Amino acid sequence: MRPLGFFEWVVIDNCNLRCPYCVNKGEYSHKNSLKMLYRPGAEIVVAQKLVDVSQEFEKVIVNLTGGEPTVAVRIEEAVRLLAAAGNIEIRLITNLRAVDRFRRIAPYVSQVGVSLHVALRSEREINNIISVVNEYKQKLPVTISQVDNGLTSKDLAELARIQNETGLTIQYQTFIPPWTDNGKVVDGEKISSASFNRSLGKRCTLGYFYFLIEANGTLKYDLWCTTRKTGNNVSLVEEGFPGISHYLLRDMKKCPNKSCGCNYNYFFHDLYLQECQKKGYSQREIFLGENERTLSKFKRLVTKVKTRFRAG
Ligand code: SF4
Ligand code: SF4
Repeated sequence: MRPLGFFEWVVIDNCNLRCPYCVNKGEYSHKNSLKMLYRPGAEIVVAQKLVDVSQEFEKVIVNLTGGEPTVAVRIEEAVRLLAAAGNIEIRLITNLRAVDRFRRIAPYVSQVGVSLHVALRSEREINNIISVVNEYKQKLPVTISQVDNGLTSKDLAELARIQNETGLTIQYQTFIPPWTDNGKVVDGEKISSASFNRSLGKRCTLGYFYFLIEANGTLKYDLWCTTRKTGNNVSLVEEGFPGISHYLLRDMKKCPNKSCGCNYNYFFHDLYLQECQKKGYSQREIFLGENERTLSKFKRLVTKVKTRFRAG
């Protein structure tokens, strides 16, 4: 049995805030309702499938995200279903705008990440967030975060106040323009591969420990970071899902990209190392990856040999 199944679940591709810097803009928020993948109630079917799937893992972590997961119409029932499974830990990322919903979900959740987005809040809402954070930090781990993008002096003053009044350190997240394409130009901005972990040739946990579920109940498996918009997906909500064992990679695949903007390999690094060692992967595959120059030299050599072979 696999020790961990981590499901990043985009419960809904809609949000009750409209942050101009939203990383998921156009994909999980700021969407025309006709283009939304989410269908009210689909969360119940997905939650039930996750309960079935949890049988294949020692432990399952379901990270509720979005968009804003608390705005999904039947999220409370879905969360109760998951919690009843016994080996499913539920985590929540929320902007805390729907506080009443949050309060009903919170008893089933093991940790909460609150995204602040101060520029979009009134003073009253910020006061409310501070008081909810202070109440819940006594009961479960709560983190607060802010995307570091276009912050004004007023925003910085509010953030200092939040930090002061909650006693929690704000985690600043670097703004990453929507979806990286192997370090190339994306949405007009050049992303420096130096900002990310070198990953070419390293073993990756996607499809082995980590999976993505889209708002329409589509399960992305394999290296879903690179094949997200195309293949390697199966619907959890339609009839005929044969079970997760059909889709679990037997081996961690090697990363085909120069650098990695997501840190899945580092979330449970001990477990990653343990599993890599069990599989007998080399130190290079775990820590160093491929040297690009060596790799391209090798590719050139192979092409040369093939050409000669054909010519001969
Ligand atoms: S709260 Fe998050 S998902 Fe919603 S608009 Fe802001 S950044 Fe996007
Ligand atoms: S870019 Fe990151 S997440 Fe994607 S395959 Fe490479 S290591 Fe894995």
